[in-house]
Amino acid sequence: MMATDTTILIVEDEPAIVELVSFSLRAAGWNTFAVNTTAEAWEYLQRRTPQLILLDWMLPDQSGLRLLSKIRSDRQFNEIPVIMLTAKSMEEDKIAGLDHGADDYVTKPFSPRELTARIKALLRRKSPEHAQTALTAGPVVLDPVSCTVKIEDSKVDIGHAEYKLLKFFMAHPERVFSRSQLLDKVWGDHVVIEERTVDVHVLRLRKVLKNAESLIKTVRSVGYMLSEK
Ligand code: CA
Repeated sequence: MMATDTTILIVEDEPAIVELVSFSLRAAGWNTFAVNTTAEAWEYLQRRTPQLILLDWMLPDQSGLRLLSKIRSDRQFNEIPVIMLTAKSMEEDKIAGLDHGADDYVTKPFSPRELTARIKALLRRKSPEHAQTALTAGPVVLDPVSCTVKIEDSKVDIGHAEYKLLKFFMAHPERVFSRSQLLDKVWGDHVVIEERTVDVHVLRLRKVLKNAESLIKTVRSVGYMLSEK
């Protein structure tokens, strides 16, 4: 099975919560990475970009709120969805968290199921290709949890790059993307590859899709899009 490309950073200092949350999120199909302090979280962000951050309010070195402000004022990180985890349930604290740019808020004690549902809802809103819910286009169904693609109910063989490309297209149907946008969104900004590599992967993807290949449209002098029209 292919590894999922969605990582959630957990910033939390209570080991029991880290363990419970990590277990639940992995079961839901995401990768997790846990750190205990805001300093470690900041260090992690210099190396990797998670698709979502779960941020505890009370941390040993600094408050989670301070880290949240730092993330939101940094152009490189300000788009990352953040859910605050906290024991505080006071209304003014919630408002402070949202004021500092938290996207959502979960009060301890919470059920793992509730947390997973909140993460899914937030990712669906912010970056649907990471929400781990099945995507459908015509006869094609992509299941991000098992990393499988089915066409008319039969499983197809697909390479990792083609899978990621298809997932991105299916999460953003009826929208045209240039080659450089696809490189950026699908391969990420840490990878240097040429734009014509995109053409190669689109070609391979169409082969995999067989009769459904017409879903992937070439938009002349612009790029590509997935369209059922
Ligand atoms: Ca704490």
